[in-house]
Amino acid sequence: MNAIIVAVGSEMLTPTRLDTNSLFLTQELNGLGIEVVEKCVVGDDRTRMTTAIERALANARLVIVTGGLGPTEDDVTRDAVAAALGVTQSVDEEVLTWIAGLFARMGRTMAENNKRQAMILQGAEILYNQRGTAPGQFIQTRDNVVLLLPGPPRELKPMFSEAALPKLRAMLPPMSIATRWYRVAGMGESDLDSLIAPVYTKYENPVTTILAKPGDVEIHLRARATDQADAERLCSEVADQIVPLLGERIYSDDGAPLELAVGRRLLARGETVAVAESCTGGLLGGRFTDAAGSSAWFRGGYIVYTVPLKEALIGGPLPDTAVSEATAQALAAAARDRAGATWGLSVTGFAGPDGDDVGSVWIGIAGPNEVFAKQLKWIGDRSRIRALAATTALNLLRLQLL
Ligand code: ATP
Ligand code: MG
Repeated sequence: MNAIIVAVGSEMLTPTRLDTNSLFLTQELNGLGIEVVEKCVVGDDRTRMTTAIERALANARLVIVTGGLGPTEDDVTRDAVAAALGVTQSVDEEVLTWIAGLFARMGRTMAENNKRQAMILQGAEILYNQRGTAPGQFIQTRDNVVLLLPGPPRELKPMFSEAALPKLRAMLPPMSIATRWYRVAGMGESDLDSLIAPVYTKYENPVTTILAKPGDVEIHLRARATDQADAERLCSEVADQIVPLLGERIYSDDGAPLELAVGRRLLARGETVAVAESCTGGLLGGRFTDAAGSSAWFRGGYIVYTVPLKEALIGGPLPDTAVSEATAQALAAAARDRAGATWGLSVTGFAGPDGDDVGSVWIGIAGPNEVFAKQLKWIGDRSRIRALAATTALNLLRLQLL
């Protein structure tokens, strides 16, 4: 089954609001094995909406329309869907009583235009809204399944999961899905792809997706089969070839982010870490504390942006310039010693945009046995360089903990 999503709302045609419902719906539909083949955003205009819905009906079996089910005059989704399907709509007394009941419970009287929300399309099943007043509707015709869902994400999500998803699942042949999720650090997207593409391009099932962020790449495998064991076997066949190619560069296979992967290793070893940050200004410490339970292994750190503060941390003059191997080492060692941690991690570099050596960063690591520093050079804007520096520092520490 293929699907088209029509997001209704003029606000999403402005730069201030985004259609996020379709992202949630796509994820849920993919989980059922339904592919989203198109989506669009349409303003609150009956004619345009009717055209968009007619087109969607002609091009996919499942059409999901979100938003515009409210009580006001500009909420015309019901009218547009009725026109596109060529069906009538009428007030459903049960829905009307239900809406009136909601208002009674809030101690308010129902406005006349709330009756619009009780208008149900001919042949539709009603999906009651646990979080709002707009009911959803589920309509099955000879050629299509049409789903009308409210716009607010907090109403749409539970309605889809609790009411619509079981109905859709019941219409589909039985299917099982197996997934693998690997996260990789220390390798760019294109290097990674040229390494593993010779493997995964040979397979259509599982589908392989590569998602990249600065310094951090995710590989998703997703296999479908009629039973779970077959789906797992299909995934394993590809995974068993990819994993050895990447080796230690894979830092998690359960979705854990890098900071958590590092934290788990520290915890297993009964060790702790502290940071001294210059150009990342707290990003690295922020990453560590993103991980729940980080107090077990993250001691804290020092933001030493200026030379006097770097010197105060070190307890003497800098051994070299602010961005240098010796300074990175001295900062890492000072963070380790001052915080009483097993490991000290430092970052000092030029994030730009001004300066001669933009993108040059020293990362220092002070461990129980040795102190060293590594120089990295990147291109890109300030936020990219800072993000890369924090991610790379985390990864360098991880590699020390293998
Ligand atoms: P209600 O009865 O609550 O008015 P509705 O179906 O009429 O429901 P809309 O008026 O279209 O909903 O949207 C209400 C809110 O939901 C708005 O804040 C809107 O920005 C948000 N919203 C609507 N559609 C989407 C979407 N596709 N993605 C994210 N947010 C959305
Ligand atoms: Mg609206």
